[in-house]
Amino acid sequence: MTHDADRACTALRLATLRGGVLDARATEHLAGCRRCAHEHEGLHALGGRLRMLAPEPPTSLMRRTLDTAAPALAINAGHVAWRPLVRAIGAALLPLPAIVITSAYALRALYGLLATVLPETLSLYLVLNYAGLLALCAALTYGAVPLLAARQARLTHEVAHG
Ligand SMILES: [Zn+2]
Repeated sequence: MTHDADRACTALRLATLRGGVLDARATEHLAGCRRCAHEHEGLHALGGRLRMLAPEPPTSLMRRTLDTAAPALAINAGHVAWRPLVRAIGAALLPLPAIVITSAYALRALYGLLATVLPETLSLYLVLNYAGLLALCAALTYGAVPLLAARQARLTHEVAHG
């Protein structure tokens, strides 16, 4: 008997002891394995008797266990909620130096181009206004990153936990 067949026999025995409906793989194995077919009825009866012997935990024990575990679960949920937020902010801040350097070179080139056709003071005024507009757009964009990440984390949490 091969190792995979032994593994399939063991999985079928455990599934039979647990009770319930066998899946397609277990049903197929049961139909093809003489040893498992021979043991199946006995294991099924044994599993039923074992389930009858196992006591249900009292509801007070379950409630106390959940009450005891609640603070640890809440802390763990808080850590899980912060991770996507930190990752999103980190991913957003990563290209920021390149954006700032590129914008500075572009503004300098724009100033040079405008200074050839306009007075320098007016060129400086226009470039500074444009720089302010770019800074405002960047601030709004980077300010929205934590909000969007928190919203996404909340939606993911709602989908996962109902
Ligand atoms: Zn088998």
